[in-house]
Amino acid sequence: MDETVYLNGSFLPLAQATVPVLDRGFIFGDGVYEVVPVYLGQPFRLDEHLARLAQSLEAVRIRNPLDMAGWHDVCTRLVAANAGLTDQSLYIQVTRGVAPRDQAFPQPEVSPTVLAMSMPLVTPSPELVESGVSAITALDIRWQRCNIKAISLLANVLLRQEAVDHGVAETLMLRDGYLTEGSSSNIFIVKEGVLLAPPKNQFMLPGITYDVVLELAQANSMPLKVGPVSEAQLRAADEIWLTSSTKEVLAVVALDGVTVNDGKPGPVFKRMHALYQAFKNQVMRPAR
Ligand code: PMP
Repeated sequence: MDETVYLNGSFLPLAQATVPVLDRGFIFGDGVYEVVPVYLGQPFRLDEHLARLAQSLEAVRIRNPLDMAGWHDVCTRLVAANAGLTDQSLYIQVTRGVAPRDQAFPQPEVSPTVLAMSMPLVTPSPELVESGVSAITALDIRWQRCNIKAISLLANVLLRQEAVDHGVAETLMLRDGYLTEGSSSNIFIVKEGVLLAPPKNQFMLPGITYDVVLELAQANSMPLKVGPVSEAQLRAADEIWLTSSTKEVLAVVALDGVTVNDGKPGPVFKRMHALYQAFKNQVMRPAR
């Protein structure tokens, strides 16, 4: 199927969507992005994703090319155009635009390049949820603005490939002896029944799924603490979870070849996974 994409105001087949080589996204990785899961044709937490996109744009001083209504319109039309895909992963990217190669911002200002496309959403299989996944740790070699969802992802690419090279699902990053996040996920741990989450700061992406998990924990009176998680706490955890829009909530059952507790997804994970699925089904239920 030749999917439909949105590029700079037009909806067109993917094969016809092209960008000039002088686009600053191509030359410098000068842009930001979002990934929105779409269940049963409905984008999940769309306003929160669009708010984070607006924050990323502001942080890198790219003019937001569309207002909230404009973004909603693009997303709705794109999801409808790709209705053949049951669940979708909506990818949005904005770069600083096309200009002669010079690191400084183009003068006069040029129009941002706006791309949105839809890919099949592949969430973890029931078997994977049941078994959990393995992960490794690595030094967080990224920059100091990890709260910006920037398209320049070279460090994440290298870190994620390390996981693939080790035959595991994710790389958990440590900075100055503290857990930051995964190469493409946020990380939670559980110790003696208490859920621990690293705080939002410039060293991690403020995940939309991270927020949902914290809200669900609070709403269900689960013991919870948001604060720095040391490497020692990570390695002594009873449970480790990773969260992201596409992975949802997944248990990490082995870290650097050492099993986490008994090597099976723990009871707190099972509870949160059930809460997450119930919440998702509740908010995604078609309006009557
Ligand atoms: N951290 C990083 C580095 C990520 O790339 C992602 C997902 N793209 C996340 C965390 C999770 O964010 P979200 O829950 O919004 O998908």
